[in-house]
Amino acid sequence: MFDNYSIPQKTYFEIASLGYLAVLYLISFHDPNREKIRSYKLFRYLEVNMLLALIVSVLTYTFAYPELGTPIPVCTILRTMDSIMCVMASRIFAVYLLAYVDTDGRLKPVMRIGNILIGTYLLLMLLNLPFKFILWYAPDGTYLHGSLFVPIVFTSPVYYLTSCISVLLFRMKFLGARERVALSIASFVTLFGVIIQAATDGIVLLSLPFGSVGIFILYFSLETADYHQLIKNNEKLRLAEQDAIKANRAKSDFLANMSHEIRTPLNAVLGMDELILLETEPGKETDPALIGRIREYAGNIRDAGQVLLSVINDILDLSKIESGKMEIKPGPYQLRTLIGDVHTMVRVRAEQKGLSYVQKIDPGVPDRLVGDELRIRQIMINLLNNAVKYTEAGEVEMEISMQDLTDSSLTLCICVRDTGIGIRREDLPRIFGDFQRLDEKNNHRIEGTGLGLSIVKRMIELMYGDISVSSEYGRGSVFTVQIPQEINRAPEEEAPSEDAAAASEANAFTTPDCCYLVVDDNSLNLLVANHFLDGLKGRVETARSGEEALQKMRQEKYDMIFMDHMMPELDGIETYERSRKDPDNLNLDTPVIMMTANALNGMREEYLDRGFTDYISKPVEIEELFKIVRRHLPPEKVQEAIS
Ligand code: ADP
Repeated sequence: MFDNYSIPQKTYFEIASLGYLAVLYLISFHDPNREKIRSYKLFRYLEVNMLLALIVSVLTYTFAYPELGTPIPVCTILRTMDSIMCVMASRIFAVYLLAYVDTDGRLKPVMRIGNILIGTYLLLMLLNLPFKFILWYAPDGTYLHGSLFVPIVFTSPVYYLTSCISVLLFRMKFLGARERVALSIASFVTLFGVIIQAATDGIVLLSLPFGSVGIFILYFSLETADYHQLIKNNEKLRLAEQDAIKANRAKSDFLANMSHEIRTPLNAVLGMDELILLETEPGKETDPALIGRIREYAGNIRDAGQVLLSVINDILDLSKIESGKMEIKPGPYQLRTLIGDVHTMVRVRAEQKGLSYVQKIDPGVPDRLVGDELRIRQIMINLLNNAVKYTEAGEVEMEISMQDLTDSSLTLCICVRDTGIGIRREDLPRIFGDFQRLDEKNNHRIEGTGLGLSIVKRMIELMYGDISVSSEYGRGSVFTVQIPQEINRAPEEEAPSEDAAAASEANAFTTPDCCYLVVDDNSLNLLVANHFLDGLKGRVETARSGEEALQKMRQEKYDMIFMDHMMPELDGIETYERSRKDPDNLNLDTPVIMMTANALNGMREEYLDRGFTDYISKPVEIEELFKIVRRHLPPEKVQEAIS
């Protein structure tokens, strides 16, 4: 039945394009990055549309001839489809190109006008079927064009292609060199084909073959897997660079802030110290007023030292959290005792500022809970300190309540309210970020590192809890914390635990028969340890180096040895290891305690692994020191104080 038909010569270009476009389609189908880039999806549509348009065109110019036996309606449909596919191809080409150049969506009107044109075109093509004014077949089978054929069929493609080229020229400077060249050549080539086809009234069929050449150019310049990979890598690099710049800026701000925060208390420490030295110069008489002043300076030094310590502790906490080494250590505790301690600490600060401090606790909340008391205390103190810090007048309140009570657990709700400066609505989302200080212009006189809340939030998350904030700028803030806690149902212990006893009374015991050795290269540190241990009424000996310590260990049996880590020549660990191998060492079974300023993550475990009996970090707290002494001395050496 196909005997009458032969492939006409004028479609040879189209058949060739069909061949190489099909191959291109198969190659691009194996692109590992396909689907990921928007332009690539559009490129696929463009390829498929062009393939179909070519097939329809070849079919049209082979079969759409009534004289060869094809029914006239089939011929009309083929001609109509052919025209529509060409117009659609030009539209997808324009969408594809705009996706490249119109990154901010400002050129949408170009497409809107195009859509109106294409809508009108499709409508006219539909009307053409009954009214026959664009293209049709005469009853004798002759194919006819109306005078509107060229304007109607070629308006949309020419519009799309010329607007593409104008947009391209207009946006040229925003494109990379490769995009400029590829998009320009592809658009000009395609436009050229359309113009030739229009100018020859459809006798030379070059719009689709030239469009295919355009696609070919686009593929090998902008849509190959390698180029996609390159773009992806460039984008990743760009984002990484932005992140690095941001992180670097945050770190610089933080360091500047931290330097200021550390310098402020340090100034007080050094200044006060200078005053003490001045006022106690040899030859100066000691009168009670002088003693009073010296005590005042010492008090100030202690306060400033504590501020310094809290800054350092914050940094340590943050680094612990960041390296995943912050551990939550749940244990039994008494909520009301904890809240009592917090009250004592916060009330003084609040009253110093003329604020009233109120604590409310829902009487139904069980007292005996299991959780990380230390961290909960840290959270409360942090929020309350902020409330006091950022409030000039009025009241600070902490309310404790509970939710989700079951037999064995509850959610502890801690709500901290203040009548302070409040937080701007736009600042609320970043309040829990690292190093974030808000409203710097108004707050620059208030000390802070911007670390407190970020640590609080992360600690709460480690305990599977939640924190939220609401605030009215200028009127006050409310921080609400929810932390799941277990209820302690174990039978109550009669006596307070050993630790609790030591913690509550620093001078609860003495060790008059004991002799301690403190090893440290820093004479001030030796002095501090010496004075602290003096309180136990034992004998304290000191060594300024590892070598001296080893000698002393050969001469005397001690009850406990405190060893610094960082010392010149023999450091604490080397000294300890040598002492273990020293056959003359009289202290092989003496507890050796690492006493060091090295409070970094995981150090405690490392020292214990090395064989040290225990670890205490500097600055040493007297309570902590006494706890350790009590823990590692045999009970017969400990004499409880009689009160
Ligand atoms: P800082 O050491 O600066 O106080 P935080 O992390 O504790 O750091 O708090 C971050 C910022 O949040 C503060 O700088 C302050 O601007 C704001 N902020 C925290 N608590 C309050 C509060 N109770 N009232 C007003 N602003 C607060």
